Amino acid sequence: MNEGSGHSGESGATAAKPRKTRIPGVVSIDVERCKGCGFCVSFCPLGVLRMSTKFNAKGYHYPEVADGDKCSGCGLCGMYCPDFAIFGARNSGVIGSGASPKASDAE
Ligand code: SF4
Ligand code: SF4
Repeated sequence: MNEGSGHSGESGATAAKPRKTRIPGVVSIDVERCKGCGFCVSFCPLGVLRMSTKFNAKGYHYPEVADGDKCSGCGLCGMYCPDFAIFGARNSGVIGSGASPKASDAE
């Protein structure tokens, strides 16, 4: 009964390492443009994408992000997509989740 729930320490230099907040790349998918060819999944060098089991309105399976933290933003998925349905980009800093650092926070 050895349940390894803790992390086996490597000379405990890091006490509380924050979760990675800066991801090198970001990918966005327009599922309704997709025709399900699967090129993006095949050509992504880092295995970020997989085909969904769901269908879009046209009846095609579309890609979904399987492991977004791995995305390098290389853009290959978008280069191979014949329908301009997917785009990858390098993330130069903050991932946009509604936070705009320069916006005045007056409510
Ligand atoms: S390459 Fe484009 S059309 Fe083909 S599965 Fe990917 S997103 Fe859809
Ligand atoms: S940008 Fe590159 S690493 Fe990211 S999903 Fe597209 S092909 Fe994969």
